[in-house]
Amino acid sequence: MSRQDILLHTCCAPCAGGCVERLLEENRRVILYYSNDNMCDIGEFNRRLDSVKLLAEHYGVALEVDEYRNDLWMCDIRGLEDEPERGKRCEKCFLHSLRKSAEFAGKINIPFTTSLTVSPYKSSKMIFSIGRELGNFAEYDFKKQNGYLKSTRIAAELGFYRQKFCGCRMSALQLEQKEKQKNGSTQK
Ligand code: SF4
Repeated sequence: MSRQDILLHTCCAPCAGGCVERLLEENRRVILYYSNDNMCDIGEFNRRLDSVKLLAEHYGVALEVDEYRNDLWMCDIRGLEDEPERGKRCEKCFLHSLRKSAEFAGKINIPFTTSLTVSPYKSSKMIFSIGRELGNFAEYDFKKQNGYLKSTRIAAELGFYRQKFCGCRMSALQLEQKEKQKNGSTQK
């Protein structure tokens, strides 16, 4: 094992771009791990995956794709379906993805981290605490050093698919409701 190797759990290409640049600047050898059981359906899973493939190709990094198992994710968040975004459902959702990433990283004997910390909508503190429990987790707060802006710039330059919702069916529903309200208020 090389000490520079790191597995980057990748939720989507628009988030992961800035993370990959930072890790490469630190001379890490990056392996992307696309694991997205939380996606509302296989169509959304594949749309995001297509852009992750472009990202991997652009930076010349390896990509591992985890099979889509929304059934397992639904079991893990059962009873928390109505929680608001950034609440307990999201905590379980992070745990689900990070656990799978930790298992894969363990198999190839390298540390792992996650692109989730780049989002200003996600608590790095919560993510770090889950990572610490799982072990072998590298604590990168990718929001720092203008990480989010960097990711946004890369996404625009490389033409990544940019979704307007977090990913699960509950967040898709929330977006739909917001848009209905917006359209309702503009029609008045
Ligand atoms: S809103 Fe996002 S982080 Fe929260 S449960 Fe849904 S997909 Fe996971």
